[in-house]
Amino acid sequence: MKKTIRDIEVKGKRVIVRCDFNVPMKNGVITDDTRIQAALPTIKYLVEQGARVILMSHLGRPEGEPKMEFSLKPVADSLTAALGKEVVFISSPTVVDDDVKNAAAALKDGDVMLLENVRFRKEETKNGAGFAGELASLAEIFVQEAFGTAHRAHASTAGIADYLQAVSGFLIEKEVKFLGDALEKPERPLVGILGGSKVKDKIAVITSLLEKVDTLLIGGGMMFTFLKAEGCEIGKSILDADNVDLARKLMDSARQKGVKLMLPVDVVCAEEFDNNARTETCACNEMPKDMMGMDIGPVTGKMFGTEIMAAKTVIWNGPMGVFEMPNFAAGTKAIASALADSGAITIIGGGDSAAAIKQFGLEDQMTHISTGGGASLEFLEGKELPGIAVIEEV
Ligand code: ADP
Ligand code: MG
Repeated sequence: MKKTIRDIEVKGKRVIVRCDFNVPMKNGVITDDTRIQAALPTIKYLVEQGARVILMSHLGRPEGEPKMEFSLKPVADSLTAALGKEVVFISSPTVVDDDVKNAAAALKDGDVMLLENVRFRKEETKNGAGFAGELASLAEIFVQEAFGTAHRAHASTAGIADYLQAVSGFLIEKEVKFLGDALEKPERPLVGILGGSKVKDKIAVITSLLEKVDTLLIGGGMMFTFLKAEGCEIGKSILDADNVDLARKLMDSARQKGVKLMLPVDVVCAEEFDNNARTETCACNEMPKDMMGMDIGPVTGKMFGTEIMAAKTVIWNGPMGVFEMPNFAAGTKAIASALADSGAITIIGGGDSAAAIKQFGLEDQMTHISTGGGASLEFLEGKELPGIAVIEEV
């Protein structure tokens, strides 16, 4: 178990918190403050406990330069409004300088300050010890709260822990608990659902899940590589040609392990990659040569739904079809609805899968939607994330 902010005394201590304030912005205005809202419970807890809170984050890709269009000033304003108290913000081009050090030293119990975008410094993404040390010099305790960058060993996500005691905030605690428990001590049956566009990107996830799950459902763009391996005609569907053999091996491996690996039985095809293209729903072994598969069909939706309803834990990564186009969203929606209706623990990883669930308005009905796309994938691959590894054990 990882230590959290609840396990330590923070009163009167300067606590530096790595948040994920990488919010979408348009013309200097934040268009979605979900990530700021998500960080509030940890920040409020630290304030209530009388810590002296120093927040830091990256925003966009300033590539090591102090480019002001990537300044965190709008985030400081948004935090000031959300917390109902002034968040000190010094827009230093070097992130840490004498003014920033003085401001950090002057913080009183319960005060909050935000540093400038840590990616204004080249050393950040290189995990430069100098910069990590400068950040660490501002505080006495490091709190990891940015799951979205926890798979990166950067100065503000990992290097800083060489200098300070490191504990997790509430967001990281939740991610580690739900993703970790689902993989390591799941209530069974454990059903994995994988979709999305490329087998190549998710080979490691499929391989790792085969070791853990009782049932694996495969849909989305990656299904065609598996169908091809089964000898089906897949028309103009996306194919990961280099990985057909691997798909066959994965199916063999599932058989040997006694994992029930299920492929779709029907598919919604279209003449073009276009919402308004002519469509046809057919059996997977009867796909027309001149069409492409865009979504799992209704029979598959029901079949997968039955497996989901029988599950105690479900891990889902990757949409079942091109859900961004309304005519090809039904398969993904059927799966999302089954998850919502099931009594199982439901864990969602992957940026597009999370977006699909939001699009259907079902986010409140999932047990846990991971906030980190890449990070959750690496977690599902069974890797230890550098930003999590540095957190002290209880
Ligand atoms: P996640 O972000 O949840 O990990 P991915 O990035 O792997 O998911 O895949 C999401 C993308 O896969 C979506 O943009 C979706 O349109 C695409 N996709 C799903 N099914 C198909 C398909 N049959 N053909 C082409 N693209 C597909
Ligand atoms: Mg994606």
